[in-house]
Amino acid sequence: MNSSPVTKYLNQILDTVRDDDSGEVADYIEELAQADPDKLGIALTTVSGHTYTAGDCTTEFSIQSIAKPFVYALALRERGWDVVHRAVSIEPSGERYNSLSLDSENRPMNPMINAGAITVNQLINGDDSSVPERAEAIRQMLSDLAGRELRLNTELAYSELAGADRNLSLAYMLRSYGIIQDEARAAVLSYIMQCSVMVTTRDLALMASTLANGGIQPETGKRILDPEVCRLTMAVMSSCGMYDGAGHWIATVGIPAKSGVAGGLIGTLPGQLGIATFSPRLDRSGNSVRGIRAFQELSRQMGLHLMAPHRVGANAVRAIETVDDTTILSLQDHINFSATEQILYQISQHDFSASSLMLDVTMVMSIDKISRGLLQNTLLRMQNAGLAVSLYDPDNRLRGMMLDDQPIRQVDTEEHAEILKDFGSQ
Ligand code: GLU
Repeated sequence: MNSSPVTKYLNQILDTVRDDDSGEVADYIEELAQADPDKLGIALTTVSGHTYTAGDCTTEFSIQSIAKPFVYALALRERGWDVVHRAVSIEPSGERYNSLSLDSENRPMNPMINAGAITVNQLINGDDSSVPERAEAIRQMLSDLAGRELRLNTELAYSELAGADRNLSLAYMLRSYGIIQDEARAAVLSYIMQCSVMVTTRDLALMASTLANGGIQPETGKRILDPEVCRLTMAVMSSCGMYDGAGHWIATVGIPAKSGVAGGLIGTLPGQLGIATFSPRLDRSGNSVRGIRAFQELSRQMGLHLMAPHRVGANAVRAIETVDDTTILSLQDHINFSATEQILYQISQHDFSASSLMLDVTMVMSIDKISRGLLQNTLLRMQNAGLAVSLYDPDNRLRGMMLDDQPIRQVDTEEHAEILKDFGSQ
């Protein structure tokens, strides 16, 4: 799918943020300090299982805190809400990710900060699990989400453990309140192991899209989580996923998200898609600078904000039919990015044997700017390939769309009725 207009668009997003070299690579773990700060990648997977990538999407890096929502989901799968909620609350803390704090019932505030994540990690694989068994259960679940076997980088885990005073102090605090049972060092190692699973940007997009898809991995079709667990996990991501930057994030980007100190960032748009970016330089909250900017651009341009007032066109293609020598492509509903991706995909799968294409947008309620651009780009490519493209748009929904700086030939009501009459007679 590399020549797809969606891939082109993702490359444009990367170009918009590429020159921003602000922020610093995390240096408290040696391996992270050695990361190439210029790496930049983006990947997007729709719930229908189409993945688009741009930039450095096959570079491996450690998942770090992006494991937190998935391990929280695994704990919910294994133990259920009551047990998990008794151990960890779901309130945003507004504090640094490694803050030493508990709520009024002596629980960590949420599973996205380290105190909560260390606690949740202890719930995995049964009360008697050893650290390696727990690490393997988590690695396996993350692999299922990515759709390939992921590698646990134990060397990285031990090098983080050597300087993990802060996480150790969290573990001692949790133990002193009876919240965790493991020795502090074992609890921290176990948590750090989950941070040390190696992923690519593409893997992360697939993992995020599984949450967006109610727990079914969209490429392998495997059910990994229940829809209820996904809903809870995304809810916690939306209020707590970006640490002390969470409020600003949900206002400006509006997509449940989670970042990691290696530079990864995921976003999940329920029922639509999963997005991941990779860029190692971080801001002061520990979130990837260019990743945040890419998400801001995507959300604004593609109308992805969860609180955006328009609905999503679940079935944007009303019909695609060919009679005689004309293919009629009728669109409907509100067309945002996800709807456009469906349209482009269906076009790419259609056998265009006719010599002309008429696009009928009478049933379209709204279309955003990026979707209009992607559609225009696709029609232009079809026209350049020799198809005579025309448009039936009596209400000017596409705002006088141009191809090669020429307005597309508009079909009038009479001609439209004539073509439809032929359709009816078949
Ligand atoms: N291993 C990291 C830590 O606990 C994860 C932090 C993060 O990715 O934000 O310090």
